Amino acid sequence: MTDPIIAALRVDVDGINLEILQALSKRAEVVKKIGARQTELGITHFDPKRESEMLEKLEKANSGAFPSSTIKQLFKEIFKASLDLEEREDKPKLKYSRKTHAEDSIVTISRGAVSVQFGGGAKTMIAGPCSIESLEQTMQAAEIVKKHGITMFRGGAYKPRTSPYGFQGLGVPGLEIGAKAAKEHDLLFVAEVMDTRDVAVCAEYADMLQVGTRNAQNFALLREVGRSGKPVLLKRGFSSTIEEWLLTAEYILSEGNNQIVLCERGIRTFEKATRNTLDISAVAVAKLETHLPIIVDVTHAAGRRDILIPLAKAALAVGADGVHVEVHPDPATALSDNQQQLDFAGFDTFMAAIRPML
Ligand code: PEP
Ligand code: MN
Repeated sequence: MTDPIIAALRVDVDGINLEILQALSKRAEVVKKIGARQTELGITHFDPKRESEMLEKLEKANSGAFPSSTIKQLFKEIFKASLDLEEREDKPKLKYSRKTHAEDSIVTISRGAVSVQFGGGAKTMIAGPCSIESLEQTMQAAEIVKKHGITMFRGGAYKPRTSPYGFQGLGVPGLEIGAKAAKEHDLLFVAEVMDTRDVAVCAEYADMLQVGTRNAQNFALLREVGRSGKPVLLKRGFSSTIEEWLLTAEYILSEGNNQIVLCERGIRTFEKATRNTLDISAVAVAKLETHLPIIVDVTHAAGRRDILIPLAKAALAVGADGVHVEVHPDPATALSDNQQQLDFAGFDTFMAAIRPML
């Protein structure tokens, strides 16, 4: 049986707990208002000077049984919880988030009468050679892409190569060839841009700008493609977390450009059987987090051509809005990625296998 005196005191404690809880909740409401105003003014939420002033005041005011060190410790916890609350409140304001835009975004890319849609239930393919190497090679690739009813044609004119001595791409003449091949086959053209100084010229020739995995955290480039107003194919950095990937989209969105298609292309892991590890779960997670369309690049994820069909099927099954794949008239002589580009027969087989899922 509980002692009646203890029982009465416990009733007091319960009441005081509720008072503390009410005071904490009241404090949280005020803190949220301060946080919102700081965000509005672009001021950081954490203010160490203000924290030490508050602790000093509390130390001076403390005449109770707890030593000042304990009071400080308790209030530091309250400050930390308040800061977390402010930051959590801030999160829903991210433009990529479903909390700001619940429905799927649709990215429509057009040039004249040629048009393609990403998102909103469409399953959209991007295909073409890794690099634009010559007019003939590009024309042949454009022809087979067109034959399969695909509208978005890819080809790199600026190539991010691991070695500075590798083929670096044809540059502007490559863009000219890519745009010409696209135009002649009623295709749209996506090309990678690697340097802020090339954004304008790439935007002149391409219908969509690609930011590659190696530039996924080149923030100046992200801002510049954002300012270009052109649709952007945004690859995930091979060492980026899902959150970091989505924040790269935020850079582009923050410049007023919401024409973004995200692309999972494999991440670097310890596994050596594939060039990268296709992170299928990232597609599912990112789909929950963002309204932006997401496609999967099977070519760069795999680094080998014999598993492209199951990977593409997995991508579509998990909810990707499309698939990106490389195709070359003669992969054995390709100037880049010759291990993983499909030849035309392989591309026919690939398309036949995934067609029922498109
Ligand atoms: C590419 O698509 O040409 C390319 C280099 O891809 P990634 O940036 O994903 O490696
Ligand atoms: Mn490639």
